[in-house]
Parts: sequence; C-alpha cells; structure tokens
Amino acid sequence: MEKIKMTTPIVEMDGDEMTRILWKMIKDELLLPYIDLNTEYYDLGLEHRNETDDQVTVDSANATKKYGVAVKCATITPNQARMSEYNLKQMWKSPNGTIRAMLDGTVFRTPIIVKGIEPCVRNWEKPITLARHAYGDVYKNVEIVVPGEGTAKLVFTDKNGNTTEEVIHEFKGAGVIQGMHNTNKSIESFARACFTYAIALKQDIWFATKDTISKKYDHTFKDIFNEIFEKEYKEKFDELGIEYFYTLIDDAVARVMKSKGGFIWACKNYDGDVMSDMVSSAFGSLAMMTSVLVSPDGLYEYEAAHGTVQRHYYKHLKGEETSTNSVATIFAWTGALRKRGELDGNSDLIRFADALEKATLSTIESGKMTKDLALITSLKDVTVLNSQDFIKAIREKLDEIL
Ligand code: NAP
Ligand code: MG
Repeated sequence: MEKIKMTTPIVEMDGDEMTRILWKMIKDELLLPYIDLNTEYYDLGLEHRNETDDQVTVDSANATKKYGVAVKCATITPNQARMSEYNLKQMWKSPNGTIRAMLDGTVFRTPIIVKGIEPCVRNWEKPITLARHAYGDVYKNVEIVVPGEGTAKLVFTDKNGNTTEEVIHEFKGAGVIQGMHNTNKSIESFARACFTYAIALKQDIWFATKDTISKKYDHTFKDIFNEIFEKEYKEKFDELGIEYFYTLIDDAVARVMKSKGGFIWACKNYDGDVMSDMVSSAFGSLAMMTSVLVSPDGLYEYEAAHGTVQRHYYKHLKGEETSTNSVATIFAWTGALRKRGELDGNSDLIRFADALEKATLSTIESGKMTKDLALITSLKDVTVLNSQDFIKAIREKLDEIL
C-alpha cells in the first residue's frame, strides 16, 4: 500500500514518562508504516523544557496558531519532587496552562465508548462531551474570615475614581465572605469555543447556570452566550439541524442523567470541575478519555485526558512489564489526523483515522485489552496484553481493515 501523503504539518508535542514511551510505539507501529507523517516536532519533555527555559512550549503554541492542528503527549507539571528529580532551573508552569492561555482555548473532554466497558448510567448510549470554562469564579476568588460584628461591602472603583457599592451583609458575629469575578472577554471566548466545537462535532450543546438566583453574575453568562449564538452561530446551527439549549444547572444535571448522551455540555468553572469527574468516572476509565483544546477561532490541540502514568514508567525503567492503556493517546492522534484531513480536504487521511479508531475498538471488543480495562470489563475470556502487545494487536486489526 502506498503511504498517505499530507500537505500541511500537524504540530507534534512530545511529552514525558510512560506516555512518551507509548508515543513512540504508536508512531512506529500504527502511523509511520501507513502515512508519510508530516509533523513539526516540539519536544515538551521536561528535560527539554528546562533546557530551553520553557521557550519550546511557547514555540509549540505559536506553531499551533500557524498550522491550526496539534497533537500533544502528556507532560509533567513540575512540583517540588520534580524539581530535584530533574534538577530544574525553575518550577516551570504547566504546559497545558501555557498553551491554553496562548490559544485562549477551552478544553473539551469526551469518553471513548466501547462494547464491554459499560457506563454506570445505563441509558448513556453515546458519549457526553464536557466543556469547562477555565477562568475565574471561585478559582480566582478573594476571601476574608470575618472575626465578629461589622459591615461587609462590595466596592467597585472605576478608573476615574467613581465608586459603586453594595452591602453584602451586616454581620452580628463571626462569619466568612468571598469575592469573585469573571470578564466578558473570557466568557465570550468560552462561548465561541463551545459553539465552534458543536459545529465541528455536529452535536447539540447545552449550557446551564443558576441565573434565577444569581441575577447579575450568572445572568451575564446566559446573556453573553445567547447574544453570541444569535448573532454568529444560529444560522449554521439551523443548517446543521443542531441546537443550543440553555437551562438551569439543576435541571441540566437531572436531564443529563436521563439522557442518551451524544451532546456537548458546557459548564461554568466550578460546575465543570465537579461534573467532569462525575461524567468521566461514570463512563468507566480515565485511560479512555480524550481531550481537545479548541480556541474561539478554531485551532485544535488533541491529547489524552490522563497524565504521564508515572507509576508504570518507574516499573518500565526497572525492566518490569507494563500494561498501560494507549487508547486515549491513539485517539489524540486520530483526532488530529482527522481534523487535518478535514481542513486540507484529504479524504485518505480521514479514512485512515476512522480505520485506526475502528481497529482500536474492535481489538478491545475481541477481548484483547490492557489490565486497567480487564479489571472493569463485562466481556468474558479476556486476554490481558502488555503495552507493546496491545498496540501490536491493534496493528493486526488495522491491517485487516485496510
Ligand atoms: P496519571 O498519569 O493520570 O495516572 C494516575 C493513575 O491512573 C495511574 O497510576 C494508573 O493507575 C491510572 N492510569 C492513568 N492513565 C492510564 C493509562 N493510560 N493506562 C493505565 N492506567 C492509567 O496521573 P499521575 O501518575 O498522578 O501523574 C503523573 C504526571 O502526569 C504528573 O507529573 C502530572 O503533572 C502529569 N499530568 C499531566 C497531564 C497532561 O499532560 N494533560 C494531565 C494530568 C497529569 P494504576 O497506577 O492504578 O495502574
Ligand atoms: Mg477536579
């Protein structure tokens, strides 16, 4: 078979530990034999980030702005322990945080559904994609412990020195107060990323706040979403037959539980923090969760939702066998290849991405899987494979399909 050609590069962001090992295996076994892989390579492994004073992360984000599509391996976010382990010059910031800020993007997480790994919620037939607004609210709050009797006020001073104030509470005794904020700019970017991605997936999008209680704060989110939708996206949604659905957060939670899935759920920062863990654990496994960063102007960076699987890496370094699940990392690659194919009108690339996903799922459905899935599957007669053999088994299926 002749290798598939690519006209435009994908930005390739390599990473750390066990996922870096899987990254190479995936490329060698599942990509390079079939595709003339055209990537612009950036090594975001911690050692190289340290050597370049993290410039490589910035460069990779700029390359994503240039080419539009990136695929990223999991990376270490340094903490104290990593400082000494890698002898770091500085506690470099999370690469995901840096890239997200530079692309002004929103992260969408989607579970990979496969027969034999059943969601806890029986009526969920299709994936639910969760989008979390990643700025502000309680995550950028200021708090005061109130020691006793007194008045708490909310005060805003504009640049000319004019003030607006509201009494929060007349305290009769001790208590607590909290101040939080968000910006229209950030909410607008979130809204645009959500609508852009709904169009890309051709799926409905739900959004919910508590605007009945929070008549200014949450209502602003509702109004901004509504205004941007009506002005910029409604026509395209109508054309595609998809819907923007707004409701109250408690109503949304109830409806999600009763739904069949197959839509995007956009959440405010705190709701997204809580609901993404609920939705992902109910779907089965962190190792089966993909993640894509989408910018308001339609740049895409694909990755697995899990980390570098440090425990498995140390086993690997000791020469012990590992059974690390590569599915989410494979789907990061197929996501990026498919998007590249769509943008470039490269149908061979799209077909290949579809085939690789199909091969991966049917490998699992045939009973061949990694240990993490073997522990939770409803299938009988399961063969547990090591990291390498699982990828080899996928390659056999892929050859059958192609
Ligand atoms: P992790 O890599 O997500 O792994 C936590 C545990 O989940 C593993 O020990 C393993 O459980 C299980 N697991 C996760 N992915 C798996 C897979 N593909 N196959 C099989 N099991 C899997 O989190 P971590 O080990 O706590 O974090 C390691 C590093 O990842 C940290 O330095 C953190 O900064 C980084 N991180 C990066 C990203 C990112 O780049 N997007 C995201 C999160 C964390 P068992 O040990 O029970 O087998
Ligand atoms: Mg959380």
